Amino acid sequence: MRKAVYSQVQISSPPLAGPWLGHACRLLLSLAAVILLLGLAACQPDTGRVSAEPAQAQGLWPELERIERAARARPAEQAQALQKLYGRTAPGSAERLEVLSLRGAMAGRLRDRTMLDPILIELRNWPLAEQRPGAEAVAGLVQAAYHLNQGQLRDAKKTLQSLNEDAVAKLPDRLRYRISALRSVVLADSGEFDGALQSGQEAMRLADRLGQGWRRAMALSDMAWVYHRAEQFERARELSKTALERARQDPDPETLNAVLTIHGNVFADHADATISQKSYAEALEQARLAGGEGMQALSLGNIADYYLRRGDFAQALKLAEQALPLAQRQQMLSAEVLALHNMGIAKIGLKRVAEGTQDVRMAIKIDLDQGAIAYAADGWAELGKYLEKAGDWAGAADAHHSYRRLIDEVLRDETRKSVLEAQESFDAERRAKDIELLARDNSLKTEQIRAHDLQLRLWAAVAGCVVVSAVLLGLAYQRIRRTNEALKHSNESLQQQSERDPLTGLSNRRHFQKAVQRLTPAGGLAATVYLLDIDLFKRINDQHGHAAGDSVLIEVARRLRAALREDDLVVRWGGEEFLIVVPEREADAASLLAQRLLDIVGSEPVVHGDKRVAVSASIGFASFPLGPHELVLTWERAIDLVDTAMYVAKAHGRNRAYGVQGVESKTEAELLQLMPRLEAAWQEGQAELVTLYGPDSQREAA
Ligand code: GH3
Ligand code: MG
Ligand code: MG
Repeated sequence: MRKAVYSQVQISSPPLAGPWLGHACRLLLSLAAVILLLGLAACQPDTGRVSAEPAQAQGLWPELERIERAARARPAEQAQALQKLYGRTAPGSAERLEVLSLRGAMAGRLRDRTMLDPILIELRNWPLAEQRPGAEAVAGLVQAAYHLNQGQLRDAKKTLQSLNEDAVAKLPDRLRYRISALRSVVLADSGEFDGALQSGQEAMRLADRLGQGWRRAMALSDMAWVYHRAEQFERARELSKTALERARQDPDPETLNAVLTIHGNVFADHADATISQKSYAEALEQARLAGGEGMQALSLGNIADYYLRRGDFAQALKLAEQALPLAQRQQMLSAEVLALHNMGIAKIGLKRVAEGTQDVRMAIKIDLDQGAIAYAADGWAELGKYLEKAGDWAGAADAHHSYRRLIDEVLRDETRKSVLEAQESFDAERRAKDIELLARDNSLKTEQIRAHDLQLRLWAAVAGCVVVSAVLLGLAYQRIRRTNEALKHSNESLQQQSERDPLTGLSNRRHFQKAVQRLTPAGGLAATVYLLDIDLFKRINDQHGHAAGDSVLIEVARRLRAALREDDLVVRWGGEEFLIVVPEREADAASLLAQRLLDIVGSEPVVHGDKRVAVSASIGFASFPLGPHELVLTWERAIDLVDTAMYVAKAHGRNRAYGVQGVESKTEAELLQLMPRLEAAWQEGQAELVTLYGPDSQREAA
């Protein structure tokens, strides 16, 4: 259920993504990238078009392959061996390129920036100018894998997208293989399964051409995992079987461990449960043979995951407890975190909530100490979800808050980047519009000149035909007026476009900030505010693809608009968050509308192609000034409050709305103190909350 981490093995894929496990699994899958990168790093010489191979013999290649295969169980040791080999390669040679890409992969796996940087520098300053684009592409590959290991999927994808395709096409097959394989992983991670399958097929084709049994086995096995994630289960199993046959023909414990792990995963839901169990047991045996205790710890983690998924918490706990001392002996923090996390979740499943929470918190602390904020955030998210299932609402809310805080930190950088990007494209668009406007302006001027000419001629003709000239003059005037109006209109539409969200057509934050002024007469907000967040939206993206996610957003936006009045404000506030501001402030009316919003979002599934996607939302709301002391708030504070209420709704099981009807606080400062403990304040009678349920929500859970 947690990442099976970079450090040891070629866990070529994560365990299964179950409803509660999706997040961790994605992290796990990222590992595949590294393995794939290592996967072909040192294969036999091919006719490298980038650098000529030494004519006489195989040279360093067999040694490189040996290192590569061994590195998967003992990376630190092999990194040293590789460093020695580096000295025996000539600058600009094919072997040098291999050593660099292999070490680059290790740097990614070990997340070692100081190891990575000189590799990138050497690749980008490749001595032979005509090979530089190829070496540059290898640098991109190494960089992308590093990003992926850092959990920066978006950067990894962008780096891969920006590779120079001509240069890639000229690279030796093994490097092209690595690029295709990494693309496949990154696209699968992003939920773009069509692209992932296409790249995976390309990778398999290249692996076949390279012709080593174990490598083919790995490529097939990775492909099986992509098929599994794309929900083509039969095909996944078929491929995995072939992969296993291949792996047995050219066996080594590391490959077998990886292939068997995926085999266990793709058969996890099969009617014959023994297939999966046997695969996992053998995977573990192979890890023992490979001699890496860390690898064993990770394998145990995968198997524990399988049992967590099936709800067999006792068995999961047993395995995680076996993994912990192995990981600790190897001082492998990543495996230790995995074991602790799984132990904690299993205990929570066994209703040993306090103990389990402590274990998970310990795992989170190790992540935080390592600076792995994104992983720590995942830890909180999972903890929250399991506490929620176990009925510990207060604990769940607390975990959600911690998650929210950390993920904000993680996203801040991400958001800053995308804001910059959006700004860039907005500027570009505006420049294009400006040019268009200038062109229109020019034609307007031409019109004016023509009209002016017309006037002169008309005046000249006045003596002859006053009536005719008056008519023509009128026409000329009209023409000028129309042109002026067109100009005004195009300015207005430009203005409007900059305040709309392009996907849903709703207002964006820019528009909101302008519009909210009229609802805040004397600085304080006078309105009812709803913050609506679609539930488990990430799962919708994961299960049905990003395009389906987009359809859901468009349809939810449409439903909201339809349920509200023309002058109510509906804003796309964030990814799957909508902010609604209505002038109405009467408590009953506010609750009625909240109920209507829950119903309109959740009653009917959203149709996307031939899929019917079930949707629900959680809502926080309040009317301002806030009773009973008529506390006046700025809109920023008001949104903070409804955001907090929305999280209480999440923590209590989603598909519901929480409305803050009153607080004891008399000042904004008092409210700020109360807000983080809204739930407790409610129970202690210092805040009055109303709960409304969405369609089919499980009231008994509340
Ligand atoms: P919760 O019920 O706790 O809100 O879970 P969640 O999965 O909805 O929340 P989370 O914040 O973890 O995930 C939101 C996801 O929304 C993550 C992001 O990839 C996705 N998303 C954001 N903007 C868009 C978009 O424009 N289109 C699509 N398809 N997905 C988006
Ligand atoms: Mg959200
Ligand atoms: Mg959401």
